[in-house]
Amino acid sequence: MNIEKLAGISVPGPTIIPLTKPFWASAETGVLTTQKCGTCGTRVFYPRGRCPVCWSDALDWVTVSGVARLKSFSEVWKPGNEGWIPATPYVVGLVTLEEGPTLLSTILCDQVPQIGATLHFVPFNIGGRVLPCFHNFTEEEAKDMADQGKDGWAGVVNGKPKIGDAIERKRTTRMEDIHAFTEMTGDRNPVHYDEALAKKTPFGKLIVQGGVTTGMLNACVAEDLPGPGTVFLNTNLNFLKAVGVGEDLTARVEIETVRDDKPICKLKVRIVDSAGDPCVEGEATTYTMALEGL
Ligand SMILES: [Zn+2]
Repeated sequence: MNIEKLAGISVPGPTIIPLTKPFWASAETGVLTTQKCGTCGTRVFYPRGRCPVCWSDALDWVTVSGVARLKSFSEVWKPGNEGWIPATPYVVGLVTLEEGPTLLSTILCDQVPQIGATLHFVPFNIGGRVLPCFHNFTEEEAKDMADQGKDGWAGVVNGKPKIGDAIERKRTTRMEDIHAFTEMTGDRNPVHYDEALAKKTPFGKLIVQGGVTTGMLNACVAEDLPGPGTVFLNTNLNFLKAVGVGEDLTARVEIETVRDDKPICKLKVRIVDSAGDPCVEGEATTYTMALEGL
């Protein structure tokens, strides 16, 4: 079975209606649930409005262990939807949860499992959606697999960026920036304050602290791309031209690489002045925290 192909295939997702939404929503976060009848205690799956045993409508969603036995299966070589072709042959099975209900699921396995085999629930990325699946791997193998299949960008405000995505921000430097930066850091280098002295330096003018300039990159990654929740893991910047006061700067970040399993990007970064000369150029690595649902 081509498990490693599952994340990249393009297939229709489940049809989710209000009645079934709790099942899909919790499975996506790694928790398998079924309904349970509050009157007679029967575990109910597929989701329904009434208990099939006692007709009570007092059904609640409860967590199940995720341990199941394989009741029947099919190894699919010719899928009904062509989007599944890259993943063929794959296994679809009926699994009986230890709590009772049976459900239909993709079975992740290296070899076709035996009827009656013990299976375990795992949320897995199929075609960009995290869906409930079952597997018959060891605990260690399953952990590796879950890491591989995980959508590292789930819950990130602006979603997963694409290679080549780019944004720009503009701002004009001010004397107040120099004061604010000194306030923050204690950097009182005379080249930022003593105009007569600064004129005699190779810069020929008062210059702003490097952090004032590169701070635009913080704004780019935190506000726009990858967006809210982003922090720098690493920056490698070359300062190519000093930036004076009253300079119109344009900062640009561009996505160079994006990881699937973790919300980590490598970016090309650049800040140019109003003459179009690069002042700062380099690379940065970012991590974007999931903020949705916090
Ligand atoms: Zn009942």
